[in-house]
Amino acid sequence: MNLHDVIIIGSGSAGYTAAIYSCRAGRKTLLLAGSIPGGQLMITSDVENFPGFPQSILGPELMENLRKQAERFGPEIIYDDVSKVDFSSQPFTVTAGMHSYQGRTVIIATGANAKWLEIPSEAKFKGKGVSSCANGRGVVSGEYHPEGHDHPSEGQAAGQPDHAGQSDE
Ligand SMILES: Cc1cc2nc3c(=O)[nH]c(=O)nc-3n(C[C@H](O)[C@H](O)[C@H](O)COP(=O)(O)OP(=O)(O)OC[C@H]3O[C@@H](n4cnc5c(N)ncnc54)[C@H](O)[C@@H]3O)c2cc1C
Repeated sequence: MNLHDVIIIGSGSAGYTAAIYSCRAGRKTLLLAGSIPGGQLMITSDVENFPGFPQSILGPELMENLRKQAERFGPEIIYDDVSKVDFSSQPFTVTAGMHSYQGRTVIIATGANAKWLEIPSEAKFKGKGVSSCANGRGVVSGEYHPEGHDHPSEGQAAGQPDHAGQSDE
C-alpha cells in the first residue's frame, strides 16, 4: 500500500489549505477530495469576509483559486469519498472507493452540511433571515448594504441559490 506522510480528507477551504501547508513543508500528501470538491463555498455567492478581496469574491471562484493554489504544490488528489478509516494502528489506513491508503497523519476536513427543518416557513423565509451558513450573522435581506454593493437579495433574483446574498462580515 502506498504510504503518505499526510492524508487529508475533504476539499473545502480547510482541506485545500491543509494541502498547501503540508506540501510546502515537504510532506508527501494525498488529498482525498470527496465526490463534491470545493465544499460548502461552492454553493455560496458573494463571500465578503475572506481577507484580500476588497470587493468580495464568489464562493466557487474562491474555491477554484484555492484548488489551483493547492495543486501548484503537488499533492496527489483523488476525487472519491472516504468510506472507512482504521486508526487502530500506525500507519493509519483510509479507504476510498475500491482503494485503501496509508498515512502517518490523517487530517479530517470533512466540514458540514446544513440540516434543514423541512417545514413550509423555512422555504418561504430562506434568504430572508433563514440561513444555512454557520458563520453567518443572520443577515436579513434588505438590512445589509455594504457601501458600493448591490442589495443582497439581488443575487436571489438573479437565480442564485436562495441563501445567496447572506453575506458575513
Ligand atoms: C450557503 C452558505 C454560505 C456561506 N457563506 C459564507 C461566507 O460568506 N463566509 C464564510 O466565512 N463562510 C461562509 N459559509 C461557511 C463556509 O462555507 C464554511 O465555514 C466552510 O466551507 C468550511 O470549510 P471546510 O473546508 O471546513 O468544510 P466544507 O466546505 O464543508 O468542505 C468539506 C469537504 O469535505 C468533503 N467530504 C465530506 N465527507 C467526505 C468523505 N467521506 N470523504 C471525502 N471527502 C468528504 C466534502 O465533499 C467537501 O469537499 C457559508 C456556508 C454556506 C452553506
